[in-house]
Amino acid sequence: MTESRNGLTGSEGYRGNRILLVEDSIALSTLLTGRLEAETEASLTCCRTMAEARSALASGDFILALTGLNLPDAPNGEILSLLVEKEVPTIVFTATFDPNARERYAEKKVLDYIVKDSRRTVDTVVQTVRRILGNHDFTILVVDDARAARSGLVEILARQNFNVLQASSGREALDILKADDTIQLVITDYHMADMDGYELTRRIRETRTSEELRIVGVSSSSDRLLSASFLKAGASDFIYRPFVPEELQCRIDNNIETLVQLKRLRRLAERDHLTGLANRRHFFEKMSALDGGAMTGAIALLDIDQFKSVNDTYGHDVGDQVLKMVADVMADLCKSAKLLPARLGGEEFAIYMPKADAFQAHSFCEGLRVAIADASTQNTSKPISVTISIGVVEIESGETFTNQLNAADQLLYLAKANGRNRVYSDLTLPEAMTLKSQSN
Ligand code: GH3
Ligand code: MG
Ligand code: MG
Repeated sequence: MTESRNGLTGSEGYRGNRILLVEDSIALSTLLTGRLEAETEASLTCCRTMAEARSALASGDFILALTGLNLPDAPNGEILSLLVEKEVPTIVFTATFDPNARERYAEKKVLDYIVKDSRRTVDTVVQTVRRILGNHDFTILVVDDARAARSGLVEILARQNFNVLQASSGREALDILKADDTIQLVITDYHMADMDGYELTRRIRETRTSEELRIVGVSSSSDRLLSASFLKAGASDFIYRPFVPEELQCRIDNNIETLVQLKRLRRLAERDHLTGLANRRHFFEKMSALDGGAMTGAIALLDIDQFKSVNDTYGHDVGDQVLKMVADVMADLCKSAKLLPARLGGEEFAIYMPKADAFQAHSFCEGLRVAIADASTQNTSKPISVTISIGVVEIESGETFTNQLNAADQLLYLAKANGRNRVYSDLTLPEAMTLKSQSN
């Protein structure tokens, strides 16, 4: 997940990736700094004393603080009060775990505590920091008509670095979801005046699957059947109030982890591994779903000219670089025009242009042909350029996808037969036929 959503109305501003590390053990501090800078995008500011931490805090905002509790100039955990006062979300290292200390951390709104008792300590810190930095890419919508309950949850989530949106009714939640497809998790209360959480869940599931959006129900009711009804309506999880903070955090993390893994699997299944474009199966599935009348726009088939000679001259690896270069140019131009480019196999590609008419499709392909002819590889010992031939058809209503593809293939064949490095479409068909018959 790389896309960042800084612009959303998170209830707390984004404070970059600066982390304050307050630890008097030089060994631990050095180890942590090395690992965190190598494995996360964090930039570390290290302090050994409370006085140093105080001046670091005066110098700017931190997304997170990692701190020990016994510092040379503050032996009784005084640093915690300072970090709370400065509103820096904090992770504490403690020598031992005891329930009283946990209560104290909860009061101070400590994000997490990590017991320094094993070799896994550093791994756990790195994992926790990665999770918290990554949370910024996730947007959670909190739905509750009780303002205090809603604000409490929003605050907990914002401290965990999530982007948080809030709605005070089911209807408002549906409006927000309709306008914003980047929301990945909804946490909804059950009892609400206009629409209960069960109904809201049911309505959300009419348009968004659990692969796209997780829904977590919450309630302070003592009715143990509520969780079952929420889950049956399509919720992914359920938590009873009052929250045990660790449970809330783990359940949210598990739901997010599930989404991340599903997205990764989908990407692996849909993408061509060499070029990153849609693969043949995904392209055909998308197009078949539109078959039967719903398909509009145009389809182009592209084939690199004399590609075999690139392989024969420079080797297969360089051939692969050329394929990537062609795909990059396609992806670049298609992205701005919201088209679907795919690698059908070998050096053959396709593009679906859902809104283009014959003229627009032809002119887009002509631009693409020129852009590819002008491009050259960068990571080969010398720059290599290729040309492509394209056959493009405007989709005729009522025609099947297979027939459209065959029509584009015929035009591609004519483009090859008439000299390559050209775009043939219905618009150029008379010229194509004339040239072909002359050459026969
Ligand atoms: P034309 O202009 O008529 O299209 O000629 P061509 O040489 O491009 O077409 P041909 O179909 O004869 O050759 C395609 C070549 O593409 C043959 C095959 O070895 C190569 N090829 C297919 N897949 C890959 C791949 O993944 N990587 C590399 N490097 N080469 C591939
Ligand atoms: Mg070819
Ligand atoms: Mg070919």
